[in-house]
Amino acid sequence: MSSLVDVDPDIAKAISEEILRERNNLQLIASENHTSRAVLEAQGSVMTNKYAEGYSHKRYYGGCRCVDVAEDLAIERAKKLFNCEHVNVQPHAGSQANMGVYFSILKLGDTILSMELSHGGHLSHGSPVSFSGKLYNIEYYGVSRETEMLDYDDVMNKAREVNPDLIVCGYSAYPRIVDFKAFREIADEVDAYLMADIAHIAGLIAADEHPSSIPHADFTTTTTHKTLRGPRGGMVMCKKEYAKALDKAVFPGMQGGPFMHAIAAKAVCFKEALGTEFREYAKQIIRNSQKIADVLLDEGFRLVSGGTDNHLMLVDLREKNMNGKEAEAALQDSGITLNKNAIPFDEQKPWITSGIRIGTPSVTTRGMKESEMEEIGLLISRVLKNPGDAKIKIKVREDVTKLCSRFPLYESGK
Ligand SMILES: *Cc1c(COP(=O)(O)O)cnc(C)c1O
Repeated sequence: MSSLVDVDPDIAKAISEEILRERNNLQLIASENHTSRAVLEAQGSVMTNKYAEGYSHKRYYGGCRCVDVAEDLAIERAKKLFNCEHVNVQPHAGSQANMGVYFSILKLGDTILSMELSHGGHLSHGSPVSFSGKLYNIEYYGVSRETEMLDYDDVMNKAREVNPDLIVCGYSAYPRIVDFKAFREIADEVDAYLMADIAHIAGLIAADEHPSSIPHADFTTTTTHKTLRGPRGGMVMCKKEYAKALDKAVFPGMQGGPFMHAIAAKAVCFKEALGTEFREYAKQIIRNSQKIADVLLDEGFRLVSGGTDNHLMLVDLREKNMNGKEAEAALQDSGITLNKNAIPFDEQKPWITSGIRIGTPSVTTRGMKESEMEEIGLLISRVLKNPGDAKIKIKVREDVTKLCSRFPLYESGK
C-alpha cells in the first residue's frame, strides 16, 4: 500500500488496523468471511475506472474489451457453479439483487409474502424501513412457536389467505435446511412467483452441502461475499423466460454503470468456488458449526430450534439473564466478534435482542477445524457465564490471540 501511505496515511492506517483486527480476533459473524488475496487484487484493480453501462458486447461506452472478458467469465462460471439458465452479475449487493427481481415482475403495491425479520428474514424482504416495505404490500409468515422451524403447512395456509404475487424464501438467521421444493408447491398453489434469497447459504449450495433453489425458484438472488467468499456484491439467477425482464430491471431500471472491478472479483470467486478445496471448506463450515452447537448445548445453553444444519446458530440468552447486546459487548471485549440477533418471538427491541448469532464461515476459511471449535465454544461459554468478570475476559482475550496466531491471515502470500 505504498502509494496509499503517501497520499492518505489516515486511510492507510485504518486499513492496516483492519487487517490486524481481522487477524487477531475470532470472526463469528455469520454473514462475513475473509476473501482470498486473488479476490482482493481483482477488486482493487483498474477495472474500477471503466464505465460499461449495458451488458457484455452491447455497451453504451467504447473500450469495453477487457471488462467484457471479466463479465463473460463471471457469467459463464456462475452458470456452471449453480447450474442456472441465466444470471445477472451486475447488482451492487444483495439488496439490489432483490430489488432487481421485484422490479422485473411486480407492480408497485403488489403483495409479497416473506419471512418476518425477527424470525430470520432480511430488511429487503419487506421491512417498513426498507424500499421493499415502502413499495409493496407485505405479508409475513414465521417459524412455528413449538419447533422454531418452518412449518410448510402454515406457510401454505398463509399463502392461501393473502394470495401473494411473490413468495420470498431464504434467510439471514435460519439455522435449518430450507425446503425449496415445498415452497414451489405453495407458490404454484396460489399462482405466485417464487424468489429464493440464498445470500447466506450460496457457498453451501455451490458445494452441494444444501439443496439447491435453482430447480424450484423462478429467481434466485444472492450476495457474493458471505459463504461464497467473494467480493461484496450481489447477483440474480433466473429461468431463461425472465432473462430480458431481469436485465432491463437491473440496468437501466435501477443501476447505472456496473462495478466492473467487483464483477472481475466475482469471476475470481466463482473460479475458486468451482475448485475441490472449496467443497471441503463448505463441508467443514457445517462440521464446525455443529461442533460449536454441541459444545454450547453441553454447557447448558439453549439454541433456537435445538441446533443447526448449516453455517450458523442462534443462542437464546433469556434463561441466562442476559440480552444480546450485553453478550455481544462482553464477547467483543474478549476478542470474539459476533452479533446480537433477534430470536423468534423475541420481546426485546431490535437493538437489544434476546439472542446472539454465531457463524463459522470465517474461522473455517482460516483453516480451523473441530478441535478449535471446541475451544471456541468453551471460550464463549466462559465469557457468557461470567459477563462482569474482567479477569476472565483478559484471560479469554489471551487465549483468542494465541488461537488466532496459529491460523495466519493475509500473511506470506496466502
Ligand atoms: C445479507 C443478506 C442480503 C443482502 O445484503 P446486502 O447487505 O444488501 O448485500 C439479502 N438477503 C439476505 C437473506 C441476506 O442475509
